[in-house]
Amino acid sequence: MLKRFQAVPGTGAVWAATFYVYVDTPWRFRSKEALWKYKDPFATPLSTRRFVARFSLMPLAQPGVEATYMATQPLKLLILGAHPDDAEYHAGGLAIVYRQLGHTVRMISLTNGSAGHHQRPPETLAEIRRAEAAASGAVIGAEYLTWDIPDGELVPTLEVRRMVIREIRTFAPDLVLTHRPYDYHPDHRAVGQLVQDASYLVTVPNFMPEVPALYRDPVFAYMADLFTKPCPMTPNVVLDVTEHIDLIVRMLACHRTQVFEWLPYEEGVLDTVPADEQEKLGWLRRWYLDHIRPRAERFRDLLVTAYGPQRGWQIEACEVFEISQYGQRPDALRRAELFPTARIA
Ligand SMILES: [Zn+2]
Repeated sequence: MLKRFQAVPGTGAVWAATFYVYVDTPWRFRSKEALWKYKDPFATPLSTRRFVARFSLMPLAQPGVEATYMATQPLKLLILGAHPDDAEYHAGGLAIVYRQLGHTVRMISLTNGSAGHHQRPPETLAEIRRAEAAASGAVIGAEYLTWDIPDGELVPTLEVRRMVIREIRTFAPDLVLTHRPYDYHPDHRAVGQLVQDASYLVTVPNFMPEVPALYRDPVFAYMADLFTKPCPMTPNVVLDVTEHIDLIVRMLACHRTQVFEWLPYEEGVLDTVPADEQEKLGWLRRWYLDHIRPRAERFRDLLVTAYGPQRGWQIEACEVFEISQYGQRPDALRRAELFPTARIA
C-alpha cells in the first residue's frame, strides 16, 4: 500500500516530538564508533540547511495528498549493472531525474560486454562497448565506466567483492542500484550477490583497512525484473518514466552493437531494423516500449494505487525499485529524497 504525503492540520505535537528527536539524537551518537555501531539514520550530523529543510517538511509526512520533496544537498547515485546498457534499461529514468536536479550519477558495468554479439570478436566488441557506454552516459552528463571482467564470466569472488567495496567506499554514494540475485543471467545474479556481500562490509574498518570505511551505509535498492522464483520482486518505489522515454531511447541508441545488431538478431527481427538513422530511433522507441510494457503490466496495481486509476492504467513505461533490507533503512523522508518525483510505498 502506498502512502502519500499530505499536510494535515493539528499535528503540532508530532512536530514537537520530531523536532526533539532531530535535535537530540545526533548529539547522543556523535562519536565515530557510535555512528557505525548503532547505524541510526538520525545519527549522522545533518547540515543546517538539510536539518531545516527536513524539519520544515515534517508536517508533509502524513497520509493523504501527494507532495514532492527534493534534497537540499547534492546526491550521488551509483548504478552497478552487469553489462553496458543494463543501467539505462532498468534505471535510465531515475538517472535522468537525478541529473536534471543537478545530482551526480555514476553507472558501472562490471563486465566488459564482450559476449554480446553474433559476429564481432570479443576483444573488439569490448572496446566498442566501452565507448558506447561512455557515449550513453554523456547524453545525460553522467559517468559510465566499464570494468574489464569478461562478459558471462562474472562470479561473486572475494576479489570482485573487494573491487565493489572499494568503489562504494571511494565514491560514497547515497543510493546504490543493482540487479536482484534472482535473474536469468548469471552475471546479473553475480552482481546482485556481490553488492549484497559488500553492503555491510563497506562500513567495517578492519575489512580492507587500506580504503577508509564509510560511517554509514548507503541505501541499496534492486532494479526491476519479472522473475517469480524463488521469490518475486516486491517494489516499494515506482516511477512513471513516460516523460523520459525519448532520452532513455537516446541513451540506449548509443549501444548500437546491442540495440541495432545483437538484440534484434537474437530475437529474430534483425531484418526489421531500418537503415536510415532517424528511422532507427523510431524503431528503437517501439522496441523499448514493447519490452518495457510488461513491467508496467506486472506492477499495474502499484501504478494505479500510486498515480490514481486515470493515469495509473495508462502508464506504459515505468521503473520500480525494491529497497534492500541490507544497508541503510531509510525513513519516509529519506526515501522521498533518494527517489525524487517517484511514488514511495
Ligand atoms: Zn545485462
